[in-house]
Amino acid sequence: MKQGLAAMKDIKHYINGQYVGSASGKLFDNVNPANGKLISKVHEAGREEVDAAVNAAKAALRGPWGKMTLEERTSILHKVADGINARFDEFLKAECLDTGKPKSMASHIDIPRGAANFKVFADMIKNVPTESFEMPTPDGTGALNYAVRRPKGVIGVISPWNLPLLLMTWKVGPALACGNTVVVKPSEETPTTTALLGEVMKEAGIPDGVYNVVHGFGGDSAGAFLTEHPQVDGFTFTGETGTGEVIMKAAAKGIRDISLELGGKNAGLVFADCDMDKAIEGTMRSAFANCGQVCLGTERVYVERSIFDEFVGRLKEAAEGLKIGPPDDAEANLGPLVSLKHREKVLSYYQKAVDDGATVVTGGGVPEMPEELAGGAWVQPTIWTGLPEDSAVITDEIFGPCVHVCPFDTEEEAIELANSLPYGLASAIWSENITRAHRVAGQIEAGIIWVNSWFLRDLRTPFGGSKQSGIGREGGVHSLEFYTEMKNICVKL
Ligand code: NAD
Repeated sequence: MKQGLAAMKDIKHYINGQYVGSASGKLFDNVNPANGKLISKVHEAGREEVDAAVNAAKAALRGPWGKMTLEERTSILHKVADGINARFDEFLKAECLDTGKPKSMASHIDIPRGAANFKVFADMIKNVPTESFEMPTPDGTGALNYAVRRPKGVIGVISPWNLPLLLMTWKVGPALACGNTVVVKPSEETPTTTALLGEVMKEAGIPDGVYNVVHGFGGDSAGAFLTEHPQVDGFTFTGETGTGEVIMKAAAKGIRDISLELGGKNAGLVFADCDMDKAIEGTMRSAFANCGQVCLGTERVYVERSIFDEFVGRLKEAAEGLKIGPPDDAEANLGPLVSLKHREKVLSYYQKAVDDGATVVTGGGVPEMPEELAGGAWVQPTIWTGLPEDSAVITDEIFGPCVHVCPFDTEEEAIELANSLPYGLASAIWSENITRAHRVAGQIEAGIIWVNSWFLRDLRTPFGGSKQSGIGREGGVHSLEFYTEMKNICVKL
């Protein structure tokens, strides 16, 4: 079974414990965004493969997986995490080839979190209490109610390309810990680590049919075929808000449950009483980490007027100190965007900013790269000021390494600006005044608020967006709410 990354030149679906190609013979290209070269060919699933994967997942619920004790199931999930760690370098290489992101980032975040997602939820499910109530009855004997958790069934997992292994396992980890089976549709841009995980699952002892993967695109391809499949019991999706709407509609047929982690246009609020060093460091990471391709990233920053010029000057200096480079460049902190297609979108906003009258503080274009990287999806980290609040650059999620900085005068104005868009995913507040920080945090309409930090994550906490940034929360016991059905049993005594 163990063929490793070398076998991933021809990426097949993983169905019922086997790698299988598409009956249609349809393949698509997986391209390295750092140089534009072909990494692999990927099989595109038709309805036939999606149907086989869902049927395998349904059957596996009734097989050995469904009969395992909690202890057996969770100990296998620990082995999955150990298996990822044992093949850390292979996963790292695969993730960096698909995304172009710096190895320094993927080795600290993507791969370790990919492994941790299995351990954390395996341990959590063992410690979740359920409720019981004794009640009186007219005949005086009473009755006992108790609730039990049962797996939801077959979960369709649809994941994006920005943190491929991390975000996919963030769903598969709790789904399996709760005893479900899954059919995963990874992003067409980043199929490799999801495919490689099939080998790890097999080695760890996950029964066939529990973890299935189908590759392909969204509409009229594997993604749509999965959401339209009537035997899937629930969908967990991370991606764009527009795609979330399409998935929600598909899930409505048959009244299937959904968990949606969607887009955002997150605001940073920098008050004059902040620690400027911390605010600059945090804003730099929130704007430029992963080349700006983080849903929690900050593309709008509002700064109290008295420190606005100093803040912009220091942010410019820091952005101009970023090193752009390929994954192997140990000093690089900015990789390429995920694809040339995504670069087209990001560059269209760079142009729009100019058209709408922005001052380009730094960046705004494509950097010059050495010949061997010239085919990559490189863009400059970019800072703007001076745009009107109704510019699409301020209202749309760009998902690139760019940020607009705007002054404000009062706390009320800052809160109003932060809450002005239909998104509500995350926000960062920079202030050393603890009372103000709590007061503002309480009024921001977002699912995740950081105070004097950004991207600090404790996996036990609720994660998700309000407004058009999502439905439901994952993380900690909140994941268990989605991945299980609660059943009340009432016993007359
Ligand atoms: P996307 O919505 O284009 O694609 C995500 C996944 O959905 C892919 O696997 C894609 O193939 C699939 N898909 C697309 N159309 C579909 C359809 N009609 N039916 C079924 N599946 C379909 O998103 P993306 O470009 O891969 O990722 C970037 C987006 O993800 C950004 O908006 C970002 O904010 C969001 N995101 C959100 C979070 C969060 O936790 N809230 C985390 C990461 C990324």
